[in-house]
Amino acid sequence: MQSLSKPFQEALHVIETIEKSGHQAYFVGGCVRDLLLEREVGDIDITTSAKPYEIQAIFDEVIPVGIEHGTVIVRHNHVSYEVTTFRVEGKYSDNRHPDSVAFIDKIEEDLARRDFTINALAMDKTGKIIDLFNGTSDLHDKIIRTVGNGKERLKEDPLRILRAIRFSSQLGFEIDSNTLEAIILVKPWIEELAVERITVELQKLFGGKNVVPALNYMVDLGIEQHLPVFNKYHVLPKLINKIKPLSSLSELICLIHQLEPDAELKQIAKELKCSNKTLKEALKLNEAIEYYQVNGVDNWLVYLLLPNFHDSFIRLALILSTSNIDYKDLKERIDFLVITSKKDLEIDGNDIIEIFPTIRKGPWIQDIISKIEKQVVQGKIENKKSILKDWIRWNPPEVE
Ligand code: ATP
Ligand code: MG
Repeated sequence: MQSLSKPFQEALHVIETIEKSGHQAYFVGGCVRDLLLEREVGDIDITTSAKPYEIQAIFDEVIPVGIEHGTVIVRHNHVSYEVTTFRVEGKYSDNRHPDSVAFIDKIEEDLARRDFTINALAMDKTGKIIDLFNGTSDLHDKIIRTVGNGKERLKEDPLRILRAIRFSSQLGFEIDSNTLEAIILVKPWIEELAVERITVELQKLFGGKNVVPALNYMVDLGIEQHLPVFNKYHVLPKLINKIKPLSSLSELICLIHQLEPDAELKQIAKELKCSNKTLKEALKLNEAIEYYQVNGVDNWLVYLLLPNFHDSFIRLALILSTSNIDYKDLKERIDFLVITSKKDLEIDGNDIIEIFPTIRKGPWIQDIISKIEKQVVQGKIENKKSILKDWIRWNPPEVE
């Protein structure tokens, strides 16, 4: 019997409430796997014989996130639990979503639809593990193996190929030899997947502790020719020699561009269908990297990385540079910055207009502010209104 750690005990109320209403409910998937591995448990997922509308009826706070696939979120004590009805899936003819799902009464078939044996484990409220596919023995042997026939299961949803490699990266597991053979047969179908799904897996893959062996799988299995971005810029072999676990997609985008300058940041972000926020972060990191390559660590670099991109930057600098970056110095400088944003400057656009009332308003005002910002951050002028005004008078705009 497995003893339940705190997050599972906190979720017991949800399981017990479902059971009281006459249904079965179990912890399932990644959370059970991670509990057995003594890894930090992410989200707690629950699988149940109750239909979504029945869950909605027995809990006060239910968010219908994917009712048609049987999934709702139950909120309990400010924690979200994904509660999914036992189901089997129809074909994935578009390789994006199953065409249909059918709700069923027994957990056995629900476990059989799951991707890998280590993810097909369930656990009841007493800590009894339900293991129909030898998942615990694969956990012990550190093996990623599909549930059922590899070729069929990977073809059903080719994302599972990338999931296999990303779990190997996160867990340090090897992929079973039959599953590897199936991957080689099915890999061209990766191209049919929705890019957003691929990108989520890539982000997790690059974030795993064992990213180097995972990238070796990518190269050895010839996966990169079926992936967006990586099929165009042959960056993986270069990455393998340098890579360390990354903590965001923006770090990955910046790194690809730095190793393969032909790959423009905007283009990479577009091809990976990243959010605008991710692109902006990548641009910011890249600006900092390029500034650092010329100037080294100084206050302006530290300021560019505000509010919290210093760690990302250090990770990238360590991967990219041949010389060692003084990251202690970089971190220490954060607390000593004179200003942390333009808003902290003692002058603003209005003060500048007052000094040059006859010049037509235009981008020159922002240019002056930017110049002053850099001077102040670098300690070349004091952030004092009278001093800044004098500086402006001596450095008038170059406009008519
Ligand atoms: P993570 O720690 O990244 O959340 P996880 O194992 O919980 O890992 P999820 O993507 O959250 O992974 O999926 C939850 C569970 O749903 C998995 O453990 C697996 O049982 C099942 N699952 C998810 N995606 C698939 C898929 N594409 N095919 C089959 N089963 C899947
Ligand atoms: Mg999960």
